[in-house]
Amino acid sequence: MPQPVNTVVVGTVAFDAIETPFGKTDRVIGGSATYISLAASYFAETAKNDPGIGIVSVVGDDFPKEMIDRFHNKGISTDGMEVKAGQKSFFWSGKYHMDMNSRDTLVTDLNVLADFDPQLPEHYRQPDYLMLGNIDPKLQLQVMDQIPTRPKLVVMDTMNFWMDIALDTLKQAIAKVDVLTINDEEARQLSGEYSIVKAARKILQMGPSYLIIKKGEHGALIFHANNVFFAPALPLEEVFDPTGAGDTFAGGFLGHLVRSGDLSFENMKRAIIFGSGMASFCVEQFGPERLYDLTEDDIDHRVHAFIDLVQVDIQLVG
Ligand code: AMP
Repeated sequence: MPQPVNTVVVGTVAFDAIETPFGKTDRVIGGSATYISLAASYFAETAKNDPGIGIVSVVGDDFPKEMIDRFHNKGISTDGMEVKAGQKSFFWSGKYHMDMNSRDTLVTDLNVLADFDPQLPEHYRQPDYLMLGNIDPKLQLQVMDQIPTRPKLVVMDTMNFWMDIALDTLKQAIAKVDVLTINDEEARQLSGEYSIVKAARKILQMGPSYLIIKKGEHGALIFHANNVFFAPALPLEEVFDPTGAGDTFAGGFLGHLVRSGDLSFENMKRAIIFGSGMASFCVEQFGPERLYDLTEDDIDHRVHAFIDLVQVDIQLVG
């Protein structure tokens, strides 16, 4: 049997067509599992023959072999990624508004995802970490069911699309995870509360111990019991394409936790800084391109920029 995979990532591996105020692409690589695993790979001690991260997904035979090779070269296993002959990969298309914090989904073609029945390979069935990336919540549940021993940490991301069409199943999945990541609009939709603080309180009652609310270029908040912590997003000169920023955030967040092995709230605060740092790279180019060849130095510089952005010396009088 191949080496057991330490971090399992389920999600979409896809083609996207994106329109932003700065340009348009016809078909680029996308998908939640793509962004998550690429971002997390920078934190993993992986080798080609001993991958720490394994993707659970499905693609059609239109998906490029070069991208699959790229996953392998980053130490990401695709043994759990089915390639279906004669079928098309998941396709998503979106158009961003001028502020780039909001977007309209133009097309969601499930294609090969419509009848996906994930079967985890044996070496994916005892991970320490499980990342349920954005995908049909029914599939997120199916993956959890195939892992008999509960991982140390289960992180889940989702989006309004699934709230609209599969709310009951989504709530069943949410009840089983440790950390949920969603954006502010989705937090409002899921809770029925306008106030983010009230929304967070309600969502934490649904099951997760930690809730991360992403606010695009306005940063991210993490809620846990009565605690809350905020990390800004870096003010960047160039933002070309926010697609995948949320997934990349999740990959960096999880990557830091896996690397450090420390699941305390204090360390989750650091993890959201790493997540925000990785997301800041993602937005600099169309698709996941910017995540292909980062160096440790690139990442260190970004994280230092975050520290500089928020560090201040205050002496209170009295
Ligand atoms: P983000 O910008 O982080 O929300 O992620 C965008 C990525 O999510 C794109 O690459 C899409 O392929 C993928 N995506 C879009 N809609 C869905 C959906 N309904 N389910 C799963 N993945 C999706």
